[in-house]
Amino acid sequence: MPQEDMITVEHLIKRYGNYYALNDVSFEIGDGEIVGLLGPNGAGKSTTMNILTGYLAPTAGDITIDGVRLSDDPAGIRRLIGYLPEMPPVYPDMTVDEYLNFVYDLKGCKLPRKEHLDEICSVVRLGDVRHRLIRNLSKGYRQRVGIAQALIGDPKVIIFDEPTVGLDPKQILEVRNLIRSLGGKHTVILSTHILAEVQAVCEKIVIIHRGSIIACEKTDELSRVMEDNAHYRYAVCGAQKDVLAALRSVRGVRAAEPTGERDGDAGVYLAEISGGFETRRAIAGALADRGFLTVGVREAGDDLESVFIRLIDRADGAGKKPGKKPQRGANA
Ligand code: ATP
Repeated sequence: MPQEDMITVEHLIKRYGNYYALNDVSFEIGDGEIVGLLGPNGAGKSTTMNILTGYLAPTAGDITIDGVRLSDDPAGIRRLIGYLPEMPPVYPDMTVDEYLNFVYDLKGCKLPRKEHLDEICSVVRLGDVRHRLIRNLSKGYRQRVGIAQALIGDPKVIIFDEPTVGLDPKQILEVRNLIRSLGGKHTVILSTHILAEVQAVCEKIVIIHRGSIIACEKTDELSRVMEDNAHYRYAVCGAQKDVLAALRSVRGVRAAEPTGERDGDAGVYLAEISGGFETRRAIAGALADRGFLTVGVREAGDDLESVFIRLIDRADGAGKKPGKKPQRGANA
């Protein structure tokens, strides 16, 4: 488990003209943690990562990585970070070995060259393609080369930007496993807009929405929030009014509405429930007790937006502020 903070982000603001791409963003990441930076397009993920990696200066605020402050030593921060951008900066006309040696020199790496590159190639499983031209590699292997270059110099922090975009399902699993295996030894930030990816790989989630942090918590906790406020579609035979009354009579059913769809002679209802399995069992019982036949139950997928809305509601309801609210009119 992580102990001390490796990364501290304090009151980060990035303004483009009057537009706040980041509006008072603060969060901490523990040493060795794997953290997902999650948000829809335009949320401010790339801006945050570009500031972390030293490519972009913040308008205000500061970052500390392993005790080094960005405002004091931007070059020092850059040396602590390995970065895999969405488009890996690989040269197609080089072999994998040539390219990794090139990056080794570029970074001015001081670790023993052969042992270090051998170890990285073994970690990312590139051993059998080291002499091949990068242009002839599959997208999955090319992504491994991108990960390998990020690992050169043994950086304490590794940042991955949308690392599985464009990969096939098998390659996605491989890359996710690889990222998971880096935790502990490295602190990892994974930027993505795929909720399932964060749940599969990360211990902690930072959710950014319109330039503000709306949640920063353990993945388990987020899963609990989702479970506590889940949506299910029920296909039930019976008079609509009575079926709705049965659904709504169950403790844990927050809302139940007809969707207007039919499944054979059954009506389809959307129920928002808390309490997970116990509530679902109670619903099944309530419908059966009244003689209604349930012909289908399906979880209604939780898209990112609906999770956001719930998290915002929860934060407002509890009177706590997981992140700072955007200033009025900042992100119109
Ligand atoms: P995506 O997944 O689409 O890359 P993101 O979460 O990475 O989204 P950012 O690229 O950080 O989002 O952008 C945050 C906001 O800042 C967006 O609304 C974007 O249009 C705006 N933005 C980014 N760069 C600039 C710029 N150079 N000038 C003006 N606005 C910018």
